[in-house]
Amino acid sequence: MIDSPDWHEDAECAKPENAEYANNFFANKPSQQNSAKKLCDMCPVRKDCAQWALNNKQIWGVWGGLDYKELRRTLSVNWQGQEMRHKRFPLCPYCKAKTDSLDTKTVDRPEGGRSTMKVVYCNECRFIWQSRTSANAVEAFKAIQEKKQRNDKK
Ligand code: SF4
Ligand SMILES: [Zn+2]
Repeated sequence: MIDSPDWHEDAECAKPENAEYANNFFANKPSQQNSAKKLCDMCPVRKDCAQWALNNKQIWGVWGGLDYKELRRTLSVNWQGQEMRHKRFPLCPYCKAKTDSLDTKTVDRPEGGRSTMKVVYCNECRFIWQSRTSANAVEAFKAIQEKKQRNDKK
């Protein structure tokens, strides 16, 4: 069981007046998922929520305005949480910037120690998330772009 994070007290979905929408967050119907995402759009903690969901590998339901397909694509995992490349390149999960606005870097792990991890970051909104496979996909995208540019110059 994961403890409720601090920002949850400001969550739009936790307000009693929105209790009727609670089931939409884990519904299969796209119309219900969209209704949940609309609530996220008005939520003051959407960025914290999306960050928390990605950090904690939440791949079911709607979190931070992202449905389960978007969460899995951002993390480059399948429905079982196993890393895999998706057909489309990742977008920024927060501002939806396209792949050419994304970059990668290697940072120290938050838990400390000597090990590092690869993250993807968005140059538009500064959102950062960890996914080695997504980082590899972003790097592959950049390599394709650079090759195209070189060929165009020839
Ligand atoms: S962003 Fe959406 S799921 Fe997250 S706390 Fe806000 S309303 Fe709830
Ligand atoms: Zn962004």
